[in-house]
Amino acid sequence: MSVTVRVPAKVNVQLAVGAARPDGFHDLANVFLAVSLYDVVTVTPADALTVTCSGPDADRVPLDGTNLAARAAELLASRHGIEPRVHIHIEKDIPVAGGMAGGSADGAGALLACDRLWGTGSSPSDLLELCAELGSDVPFSLAGGAALGIGRGEQLSSLEVGGAFHWVFAVADGGLSTPAVYREFDRLAAGRAVPEPAADPVLIDALRAGDVNALAASLANGLQPAALSLRPELATTLDAGLAGGALAALVSGSGPTTAFLVDSQESADKVAAGLLASGTCRAARVASSPAPGATVLGD
Ligand code: ATP
Repeated sequence: MSVTVRVPAKVNVQLAVGAARPDGFHDLANVFLAVSLYDVVTVTPADALTVTCSGPDADRVPLDGTNLAARAAELLASRHGIEPRVHIHIEKDIPVAGGMAGGSADGAGALLACDRLWGTGSSPSDLLELCAELGSDVPFSLAGGAALGIGRGEQLSSLEVGGAFHWVFAVADGGLSTPAVYREFDRLAAGRAVPEPAADPVLIDALRAGDVNALAASLANGLQPAALSLRPELATTLDAGLAGGALAALVSGSGPTTAFLVDSQESADKVAAGLLASGTCRAARVASSPAPGATVLGD
């Protein structure tokens, strides 16, 4: 018997970053939107905890105890005083180290799948709490839809979305380390006053109304200058998507994936073709939002 869970990627439509706190973390006002690029996590009883991964980026995913899916299985098992005797297979479609929370998605997926497999009966709030222990972005991967995250991003409140939004994601060569991007943010912020992060009510209204033009005008990523400072060539990808007809472009989270908001599925296909032809990215993926959170397949 095995359990399979599908989990979405995310884009941050707003990422407001505060000054570094004494513990090194940053306070955030983070508006997450789940998008229809998915990893699929399957757990099967086994003699010991093992992880395998398939997909184009599989060779960049760690298969040891540092994999977030393995850590999720260990956390749930230790909470219930059982051994994590499970094989976890990840079908990876979310770009790795791309600022789209792929590792977090696998952590949330493995947690839900193991809970079903082992019959540990966690409530949704138990699962969210375990997710927050695994990482700041993990609770949102479980929840999906759209949400505002404050604190380190893990204190979530869900947001209404009044319609579908269409996106193109340009996948860059290589990854960007999220801690390195925050270090660059701190370096660029040195000596400047960094305002307290706050959710933008205009952006939240745009989501609620399903108003793509208003959303395009209010997209904001406070980590973008740091990501561009580390990877200046991403600016040419942003320009190529805008030249191809995107309404707005931004770096996705800590990057290096770039996200393009478009007004229809047809524009998405056109912008994706233009991005590929520009030679400024490795792949262009079309997706829509909001997408549901972690979902047990076959339920
Ligand atoms: P975020 O948007 O949450 O900052 P990201 O999308 O930039 O994350 P991930 O794909 O989650 O980045 O991977 C970041 C690093 O985490 C990888 O380089 C890898 O070493 C490690 N990692 C641990 N578990 C996983 C996993 N299941 N899938 C991918 N990477 C993982």
